[in-house]
Amino acid sequence: MLNSYRAVLFDLDGTLVNHSDAARAGVITWSRELGISPDPARWLALEQQWFLAFERGEVTHSGQRAARVREYLCEPKLSEAAALQLFNGFLHQYIASMQPFSDAAEVLEQCFDCGQLVGIATNGAANLQTAKLRTTGLWDDRLIMLAAVEIGAAKPNPEFYARALDIVGTAPSDTIMVGDSLPNDVLAPIAAGIAAIHVDHAGTGTADPRYPTIRGLSELLNAP
Ligand SMILES: [Mg+2]
Repeated sequence: MLNSYRAVLFDLDGTLVNHSDAARAGVITWSRELGISPDPARWLALEQQWFLAFERGEVTHSGQRAARVREYLCEPKLSEAAALQLFNGFLHQYIASMQPFSDAAEVLEQCFDCGQLVGIATNGAANLQTAKLRTTGLWDDRLIMLAAVEIGAAKPNPEFYARALDIVGTAPSDTIMVGDSLPNDVLAPIAAGIAAIHVDHAGTGTADPRYPTIRGLSELLNAP
């Protein structure tokens, strides 16, 4: 499935590492530290709402973090600096709770063994995403970090993929993207001429002839 491509780009959250379970566990511990009743469903809804605003270019990456804290804590007047300091408390627990999906390490190793270039194409910030890869044991010095904050454009903006391929040094036709977000990791790459595989860990997607869907990373192991 991956072997015929010179470069493989993996999304990180929800693809190689279990972001939603870590966010849920992280916000529960963080809320208790702050002495408030944890509400992980509300935190995840706020994350979705504000991260989409970041992806649309309506707020900065820091701005969406601060906005989530203000709304979750019902403190609309918190300064950005104070909100970001509180957010760091969440981040600490979130990273500590992060787990890789099974077979993630083996899939990355298989790509390296095949001599492929391997990128992490993610809408996060490079330092946070690297910390997640390190804490889950997935970090490898050969990985090419393609983080939206540093690239200056976020998926699904076509600029993101153009700049990512410039960094990796491959043409779209030599590159495949693997990820859990249909708009960000599948449909936008395909529109840019990049092949794509949809990772549907939850099994909620429907078959589409434009791209293959897999239920787990193990399906990428030793597949032709
Ligand atoms: Mg994802």
